[in-house]
Amino acid sequence: MKPIHKFNNGNGATLCNACSVIIETGLTDALLCEECKKDYDKLSLVFDSEHRVLQAVKEIAEERIAKIIKQRIESKN
Ligand SMILES: [Zn+2]
Repeated sequence: MKPIHKFNNGNGATLCNACSVIIETGLTDALLCEECKKDYDKLSLVFDSEHRVLQAVKEIAEERIAKIIKQRIESKN
């Protein structure tokens, strides 16, 4: 994994490798947000390759984001 840096504002930002949330403003070495880091640590005990672990963390993050979006839609009805 490499840090993901975004440059479109003054200081830039570092994004989560799994869910693309901004972890820190400025360009740092951070790789994952708090939530994805927790999942990553758990899943690295299950899968051997970093690629598989990251893929699983991404899928979990997608589900988490989908749930939040659904809740927002439902609270407007
Ligand atoms: Zn994340």
